[in-house]
Order: sequence, then C-alpha cells, then structure tokens
Amino acid sequence: MTLVEKIDQLLPQTQCEQCGFRGCLPYAESLSKGESNINRCPPGGIPVMKSLARLLNQPETPIDPECGTTLPLHTVYIDETLCIGCTKCIQACPIDAIVGTKKKMHTVIQSECTGCDLCIPPCPLDCIYIKPSEEAFVPEVGLSDMQKIRANKSRARYQARQKRSENRTTITKTLPPQEKILASRSSDADMLSLIAMAKAKTQAKHQERE
Ligand code: SF4
Ligand code: SF4
Ligand code: SF4
Repeated sequence: MTLVEKIDQLLPQTQCEQCGFRGCLPYAESLSKGESNINRCPPGGIPVMKSLARLLNQPETPIDPECGTTLPLHTVYIDETLCIGCTKCIQACPIDAIVGTKKKMHTVIQSECTGCDLCIPPCPLDCIYIKPSEEAFVPEVGLSDMQKIRANKSRARYQARQKRSENRTTITKTLPPQEKILASRSSDADMLSLIAMAKAKTQAKHQERE
C-alpha cells in the first residue's frame, strides 16, 4: 500500500471539503508530500488527527478552527412536502446519497449519507435538515468500526461518481457548441421559474398561518 493509500484509509471519507481539498484523497495526497497539516479534518476530529500524527510521525495538534468544527455524527433528511425537485442537492452530493428526478420529490438514502452537509446550502427551499446519528461512539484514536464501514462505502461511491462525471465530460465535449448552449439555457430558465413559483407558494402558506 502506498503512503497516500495508507493516509486515505485513515480519513472519514465524508468528502466534505472542509480541509480545503476537493475530497479526502486530494488531502491525503497533499499530506503525503508534507504540504498540509494533519489537523485539517473536522469530521475526523481529534481521533483522526491522532492517527495521522502516528502514521506520519508528527506531533499532535488541535483541529484548525479555520476548517470548521467537529459536529456529532449525523445524516440529513429532506422535508418531502416542501421539495420541488430542483435537483440542486443531487448535484451537490459527492457520493450519490440522494435519489429523485427533476420536478419530483427527492429523498436521502440514510444508510449512505455521510453528513457532509454539502447539499444544505444549495437548496432554494431550505428543506434539508440535520438528523443526529444513532452511532455516537467515537474512539480515542482513528475511526470506529462503524465509521470504517461507512468510509469504505463512501469512498467507493465517491470514486464511481467521479468516474461518471469524467465520462459525461467526455461525451459533452463531443456535442456541437450550439446544442450545448440551447440545452443549458432551456433547463436553467425552466428551473428558475419553478423555484420562484415554489417560493411564492411557501410565502403564501406562511402568510395564511399568520
Ligand atoms: S472528511 Fe476530512 S479529509 Fe475528507 S474531505 Fe472532509 S475534511 Fe477533508
Ligand atoms: S445527502 Fe447531503 S449530507 Fe448526505 S452525503 Fe449527500 S450531500 Fe452529504
Ligand atoms: S435542493 Fe431542496 S428543493 Fe431542490 S430537490 Fe433538493 S431538497 Fe428538493
């Protein structure tokens, strides 16, 4: 196993980007070259920092507050009565843990969600909420057995998504330029008017209640 792979095995694989990299693997690559500090992974918190310190023979150090805080383990869920099917959360989820299609209700696959929270800010209806995890055990050093199982699943899903995205880019590159522009224009306008209508409806509901 290479050093990058050994480091990657220690990381929680939420792919949350809080370390400042586009996922756990790029952070592992940077650590392997000595270009990053071991305290940049809030989801892993102190236990993961300690395991990195041992592997890389470095002193232990508190988590860098610039990267955020370590939240208790959690997943997220969607209030399906509010969801308008804009697909923004699906696009943001790095591990394909959301299912749904355009203008239809979306749902989070609870067994796969890592609680990276990347889907929350893009939701125009603010209808994605945090749900505390029942697996609250945090070990002294490294990941718990349950976290390792989740990390292995999450890594595989992340890699599959990356692969699919690369394939899609290759296909899109082969489309004539006019078709690319027309396709993106019509879907954007469609979705913007849908969001505006849904927001107006939600506001009207609130006003009725008041
Ligand atoms: S889980 Fe840690 S290493 Fe992975 S992307 Fe998030 S902060 Fe970076
Ligand atoms: S559903 Fe949201 S919180 Fe869960 S893994 Fe996907 S983006 Fe992260
Ligand atoms: S971003 Fe929000 S409104 Fe859009 S599909 Fe996801 S949950 Fe539904």
